[in-house]
Amino acid sequence: MTKRAYNFNAGPAALPLAVLERAQAEFVDFRGTGMSIMEMSHRGAVYESVHHEAQERLLKLLGITEGYKVLFLQGGASTQFAMLPFNLLTEGKTASYVKTGSWADKALKEAKLIGQTHVAASSEEDKYMRIPDVSRLELPENTAYLHVTSNETIEGTQYQQYPETGSIPLIADMSSDILSRNIDIKQFGMIYAGAQKNLGPSGITVVVAREELVSSSPSTIPTMLRYDTHVKNNSLYNTPPSFSVYMVNEVLKWIEEQGGIDGVERQNREKASLLYQTIDESAGFYQGCVHTDDRSIMNVTFRLQSEELEKKFIKASEEEGFVGLKGHRSVGGLRASIYNAVPYESCRALTDFMDYFRKTNG
Ligand SMILES: *Cc1c(COP(=O)(O)O)cnc(C)c1O
Repeated sequence: MTKRAYNFNAGPAALPLAVLERAQAEFVDFRGTGMSIMEMSHRGAVYESVHHEAQERLLKLLGITEGYKVLFLQGGASTQFAMLPFNLLTEGKTASYVKTGSWADKALKEAKLIGQTHVAASSEEDKYMRIPDVSRLELPENTAYLHVTSNETIEGTQYQQYPETGSIPLIADMSSDILSRNIDIKQFGMIYAGAQKNLGPSGITVVVAREELVSSSPSTIPTMLRYDTHVKNNSLYNTPPSFSVYMVNEVLKWIEEQGGIDGVERQNREKASLLYQTIDESAGFYQGCVHTDDRSIMNVTFRLQSEELEKKFIKASEEEGFVGLKGHRSVGGLRASIYNAVPYESCRALTDFMDYFRKTNG
């Protein structure tokens, strides 16, 4: 059997082994065509059926029956930071943002290049170690949308409750927690996610939006940056990232096999509890970075008493086959990313290692 690493990478991240093996089996001859899916026309019936399957599956897993469109785009979630205000932040309007961390900041920075912005809430003063109170937000009269980052991948915070925005579209960057837990998607006007954390490989960005938000874009925007171009052409205006779309479809099938969102959520909560419990019961040897109520079940961030000890931890973990436990270069510390595809066994191995490391270095 192939040796698989204990993979805690933040993104690109672990994929389900079953999906990789299925892709391997179909790699050179896809469904009897004598070709890889990468070698065939995106206008042909074989590719198109995969494309539609993936769109339908995603809607179904999100619990959406009508009123929303699924778009498969390129340029990563980072391109959505600009594409969103280009399309929705029109003359005379203001876009509101909740500042929760590194990714929310980047989204806001792009919107500022395009139009009027407003910070509705921020946890910057707390070094982004919590989600700010969003229960009573005051939004400007002419607000085009409110943007939130559902899970801050770098800091390790996650919303437990989303703000109520009435008729103002609530828009979420869900790159690092899409399909990880049961939430009511109908409270959002639009969600988007780069695929490489919870949905598949890099190269594809998924946008799910209420039809009326994406069916007509300002005429001044370049064709590829208009949502309506991709709606009208069902994300086949130009060549889509066909292999990535195929992989997303396979990951979605795998989620169905886990019992859908409820199944993966149960596993995710067990994995996160195991890690946080090990941190909390270490008598201060490990310290969680984030306010307890706002802890992410996807990115577990923690520290040791000194940077020196953290370096030692990372080195020792690498020798034991653990990958990706170093915190993001902007914040330091340690981070275990435990997306849907990270097995419980990897988390168990990590907590065993953490206990061992504490005993030998505490
Ligand atoms: C990784 C990440 C991004 C950036 O995604 P790209 O696809 O690399 O552009 C944006 N937002 C969040 C929350 C992320 O985790």
